[in-house]
Amino acid sequence: MTIDSDFHSHVSRSSAHEMALAAQEKGLRVLGLSEHIFQMNEARPILEHMHLEGPLLTFPAYIEAIHAANQLVSVDVRLGMEVDFIPDKNEAIQAHLVGHPWDFLIGSVHEIDGLQFEHVKKWDREEGERLWLRYFELLRQAVGSGYFNLVSHPVRMRLKNPYLPSQLDEELEHLAAEAARHDVALEINGHDVLNYPSLVQRLARACALHKTAVSVGSDAHYPLKVAQAHAQSEAILREVGITKVRIWKKRTVEEYQL
Ligand SMILES: [Zn+2]
Ligand SMILES: [Zn+2]
Repeated sequence: MTIDSDFHSHVSRSSAHEMALAAQEKGLRVLGLSEHIFQMNEARPILEHMHLEGPLLTFPAYIEAIHAANQLVSVDVRLGMEVDFIPDKNEAIQAHLVGHPWDFLIGSVHEIDGLQFEHVKKWDREEGERLWLRYFELLRQAVGSGYFNLVSHPVRMRLKNPYLPSQLDEELEHLAAEAARHDVALEINGHDVLNYPSLVQRLARACALHKTAVSVGSDAHYPLKVAQAHAQSEAILREVGITKVRIWKKRTVEEYQL
């Protein structure tokens, strides 16, 4: 079997319906939609520093649009959210999630002690290496927080920071071991696969070594990008001997065999 799910995708630049149609056209069986929590009007006051990616939504409108999309396509559309992990804001962020019928929740580190590292690019080797290590520390906290089914894009720091620390593989293994211990999946992220595949390979090796569950998500922000890099992601998984992909319904694990 090939990968026929995509558990990381965004709706704010199109719509749940358009994303679901794209998934159907690409032959997917299951689509997990996971808009950023900072795109939700209700949560915006605590996350107003995050760059908006489209018009604000409300939780009820987002959830209703996904349920409606699920009725209109043959793909099984699941309700998720990409949730920022920020140590001193987590309680306030999590309070917004209570009471909604989530299928899965993604934990994401997009900032390090206030620095949104995907949007800045001026640091030297010493600061770059320090940021990588702090990034892994936060990812481990996210994995152990109990809030999330999976933690996304664990090598995203590479986007603007080429200063890989010498102990990168040990850090990836430490993260993979923690994720396995907490039964949280780590993500093979399509955006990262397309931009720095060798780092995703190192992540996949760490997951294979520690028998860490993996999720596969395109991180599509447009319909055309749904399932982007799935072929490459699958090749990376097969190469390290990972043959299971984890997905969720009502926050319960479902796993399928490649
Ligand atoms: Zn993200
Ligand atoms: Zn995303």
